[in-house]
Amino acid sequence: MKTAIISDLHSNREALEAVLADIGRRNVDDLLCLGDVVGYGPEPEFCVDVVRKKARWCLMGNHDDALFRDASDFNPYARGAVEFTRRRLNPRWWSSAEKRVRWKWLKSLPLRMTEGRFLFVHGSPRDPVREYVLSTDGILNPEKLRSIFSSFERIAVAGHTHQPGIHDESMRFHGLNGEQRLTIGFEKGHKYFVNVGSIGQPRDGDARACYAVLEEDRVSWYRVPYDFRITQEKILKTGVLNELLARRLAMGK
Ligand code: ZN
Repeated sequence: MKTAIISDLHSNREALEAVLADIGRRNVDDLLCLGDVVGYGPEPEFCVDVVRKKARWCLMGNHDDALFRDASDFNPYARGAVEFTRRRLNPRWWSSAEKRVRWKWLKSLPLRMTEGRFLFVHGSPRDPVREYVLSTDGILNPEKLRSIFSSFERIAVAGHTHQPGIHDESMRFHGLNGEQRLTIGFEKGHKYFVNVGSIGQPRDGDARACYAVLEEDRVSWYRVPYDFRITQEKILKTGVLNELLARRLAMGK
C-alpha cells in the first residue's frame, strides 16, 4: 500500500498540477492532504476543488483555519493573503452552491487522523493546527522535541514548517539537502516524526515542490520542478498579495 501525502499547497496551482502528474506515475493507491490548502497564493478555488475531489481526507491547516477567525497572530503578508482568500471564498447570499460547498468544506476539516500506527496532523501532536516542529528543534530546543515525542505512539506525520525531513528518537533531523528524492526506512519499535514538506511554498532552500509517499516500513520524498514564474505573475496580478510572496517562490525560502 502506497499513500501519497501532500501538504501546504497554499493556493499554488502550477505546483499542485506538477505534483499530481508526478504522483500519477508512481503507482500510488491513496492520496491524503495535511492542510494549508489556501493562503499566500493566487488560486484558492482551484486547489480546494482538486483536494476535495482527489484526497480521501484533508486536515485543517492554520491558514485554512484563519479564514474563520481573526488572523492577528499572522505576519502582515500572511494576514493580507488570508484577507484576499476570505474575500474570494466567503459566500454571500447570492453566491453559487459551488462556492458554499467549498466554504463549508474548509470550515469542517478535521484536526487529526489516526490510521494504523500513523498519526497525521498539520502542525504537531500537541497542537495539531499551530505548533511548529522545526528541523532545528533537536539542537536548539531538545526539551520541546522530547515532549512532542512523548505525545504520540509510533510515527507522526505533519507539514506546516515547509521543511521536509524526519526526526528520529535521538532527536536528529535528516533533511533532503537538495536531493531530488530520498527514502528512509522505519526501524521496528522506533518512533519517528515525519515532515512531508510543502507543495506551494517550500522553505528549505529548494524551490521545487515537495511531497511524500508513505508505505508501511518507509517514507520517500520527491521534489518536482514547476514553472513558478507563472505563479509569480498571478500573485503580482492580484494587486493585493505582497510581491515578497512571489519572490520567495524562486528561492524556496
Ligand atoms: Zn503552510
